[in-house]
Amino acid sequence: MAEARLSPLPAEREVAAPRTPSAPRQRGIPGPLLVALYLALVLAPLAIAALRGEPPRPWRDELATGLALLGFVVLFLEFLLSGRFRTISGRIGIDTTMRAHQLLARTALFFLLVHPFLYTSGLQPFPMPSDPTGRASLGLTGPSILTGVAAWILLALLVVLAIGRDQLPFRYEAWRASHGLGALLVAGLGTHHAIEAGRYSADPWLAGFWLVLLALSALTLVHVYLLRPLGLLARPWRIDSVERIADRTWSVRLVEEHPGRFRFRAGQFVWATLDRSPFSLIEHPFSIASAPADLPRLEFVIKEAGDFTSRLDRLRIGGRGYLEGPHGNFALEGWQAEGVVLIAGGVGIAPMLSLLRQAAAEGDRRPWLLLYGNRHVGQIVHGEELEALASRLDLRVVHLLGEPPEGWKGEVGQFDRALLARHVELPAMAGRLFFVCGPPAMIDTVERALVDLGVPLRHIVAERFRYDQG
Ligand SMILES: Cc1cc2nc3c(=O)[nH]c(=O)nc-3n(C[C@H](O)[C@H](O)[C@H](O)COP(=O)(O)OP(=O)(O)OC[C@H]3O[C@@H](n4cnc5c(N)ncnc54)[C@H](O)[C@@H]3O)c2cc1C
Repeated sequence: MAEARLSPLPAEREVAAPRTPSAPRQRGIPGPLLVALYLALVLAPLAIAALRGEPPRPWRDELATGLALLGFVVLFLEFLLSGRFRTISGRIGIDTTMRAHQLLARTALFFLLVHPFLYTSGLQPFPMPSDPTGRASLGLTGPSILTGVAAWILLALLVVLAIGRDQLPFRYEAWRASHGLGALLVAGLGTHHAIEAGRYSADPWLAGFWLVLLALSALTLVHVYLLRPLGLLARPWRIDSVERIADRTWSVRLVEEHPGRFRFRAGQFVWATLDRSPFSLIEHPFSIASAPADLPRLEFVIKEAGDFTSRLDRLRIGGRGYLEGPHGNFALEGWQAEGVVLIAGGVGIAPMLSLLRQAAAEGDRRPWLLLYGNRHVGQIVHGEELEALASRLDLRVVHLLGEPPEGWKGEVGQFDRALLARHVELPAMAGRLFFVCGPPAMIDTVERALVDLGVPLRHIVAERFRYDQG
């Protein structure tokens, strides 16, 4: 499909001083406050320990205990970070929250794994007859050794399994359930170990602190796996159609059974449970490809990737669906922007369709540019609709193909600086907001190239379809 340039771009005509886009207000705790609260909680055990006024020990012993206290509180807070709470991720974005979850898990792992090796007594757990004062031992009781060692091994296993998850022979859902329950077990074992063995955690305040965090962690799991699905029961959807619309790509359409209960901003995503009970562990994040204006109808555009997405044709028409969300800040609503540039790779077109469809529904007059890359023509999704949208909106659609057919008049190759430089004209487009969605490597390349061309990073909104980046 060749480039469809249906109307001149006002921003290219009026190059005078474009106003820079300004961001909308999001729900949730602002980033700096979140960091401050996080640090306050992480440092609380150290503060409680310091206030006990115990006689000082060799610095290695204090360091070992300090790392254990820090690592343990970070471990507890991981439950909150991974619970998809909009109060936490609303402002900073769920991808940033998940990335923080992964990096902090490694930090906690490091602190907790090294701490037993730092004690001046070595790993001698209890006093030997030759050491009646017990100074050359960790002074542990039998049960606290067991819980400490078990938590230590299980924690290492959890993090290693999370990092190598894609290579595991079992399904994502099995991994996810084992990850949550395993983490709770580590937290429980660790709490016992800390209170029984810890020099400072015997303090009633600190012991109470650990017990409250343990209860909160368990409540988080109850909320995620029980209360949230219960809430979804009141917002069922019906699967209306499942249709193959491009190479290995499907359109799944749903209808809301009680219209008006679900609201979202164009470009957002949900965790969808399709043709199953909302308590099922089989749920997947998908961007909504339809516009809020299309409600109570909703469309997903889904590319085959694994177990679930390769069997969409087995979904029963008329079956129930449940959508947890909406989530994400990949949305134009609330931004003050003079125009929009959408850069989509493959199924990254899904949230772009939502933005374009909503813009058409609202009669948006701003200039839009869509750069849409695929490997071959058969992968282009809703090509005809994009052409129709180009005539309804001030939209220019540029198709890019890695393997073009003979006679192809569009762009050829991959997204790179040269391609973007041909279409992103600065300063004329300085007032535009850039949305990027596609494979992680493509997003990285495009972000780097845009910044290189002079687009400020804060004017680039990206959606990653994978949270785990090793
Ligand atoms: C914010 C976001 C929006 C997305 N939007 C779309 C979209 O509009 N269209 C589309 O085709 N794909 C989208 N994806 C990707 C899609 O979620 C995965 O391709 C799909 O879940 C794979 O499931 P599977 O069972 O077929 O494959 P699997 O082999 O089970 O999973 C492949 C990979 O997908 C990811 N994944 C699977 N299940 C989950 C889950 N419950 N939570 C988080 N990650 C999971 C994991 O990284 C996993 O390793 C999106 C992903 C994210 C994070």
